[in-house]
Amino acid sequence: MIHEKQITEWQQTLRGAPLPHVIKWACETFAGRLIVATSMGPEDMVIIDAIAALRCAPRLVCLDTGLLFPETLRLTEMVRTRYQLTVTAILPAETVDVQAAHYGPRLWETDPDQCCRLRKVEPLQRTLAGAEAWVTGIRRSQSHTRRAAETVEWDPVFSLVKINPLAFWSNEDVWDYIRENNVPYNPLHDQGYPSIGCMPCTRPSDGSDERSGRWAGSGKTECGLHR
Ligand code: SF4
Repeated sequence: MIHEKQITEWQQTLRGAPLPHVIKWACETFAGRLIVATSMGPEDMVIIDAIAALRCAPRLVCLDTGLLFPETLRLTEMVRTRYQLTVTAILPAETVDVQAAHYGPRLWETDPDQCCRLRKVEPLQRTLAGAEAWVTGIRRSQSHTRRAAETVEWDPVFSLVKINPLAFWSNEDVWDYIRENNVPYNPLHDQGYPSIGCMPCTRPSDGSDERSGRWAGSGKTECGLHR
């Protein structure tokens, strides 16, 4: 059982610490009870590159909603071969077709919160059961909903420790790392998509914030994994 006092202590000592330091600490502190969730976004690619360089082996998972861009799936394959890492695809309980039969077609249009719950939140909840900590690529400057993210915090959604090693990084910091270390990334980023999720809910950005192309025009800003 991890106490609030312990979280506060980690928060103070690791706030904004260098990426390799945070990853190494997380791997040593949580060992086999650590999960790294990736959507193959630029931040995730930076974290994966750091994990590979440190030769630590947390469990790496990606949420395959069945609605991902082919470019994202190809990048996942590239990660497996280039870094020789196991990336486990986490699947929803129902295929897109079965979901349509139960809830109606294009649930992402009629009830996107329910769609995200079924295709992202519940599968990740099942995956995180038994883990003590998970690593995410969220950053404060990505959107107003993420501006209070800490390097280490308690996750009230999934009830475990949440580690955001890039919480204090800027978008420029991420892309500098990618260029300097020749890290692979999703080619859609070069076509106006700063943030990439499922195909039906991702548009090029209008420039207002990095995540403005996600659920554009709907008022929805998060899938429910981060609160
Ligand atoms: S991002 Fe869109 S398609 Fe993907 S799970 Fe959420 S609502 Fe469904």
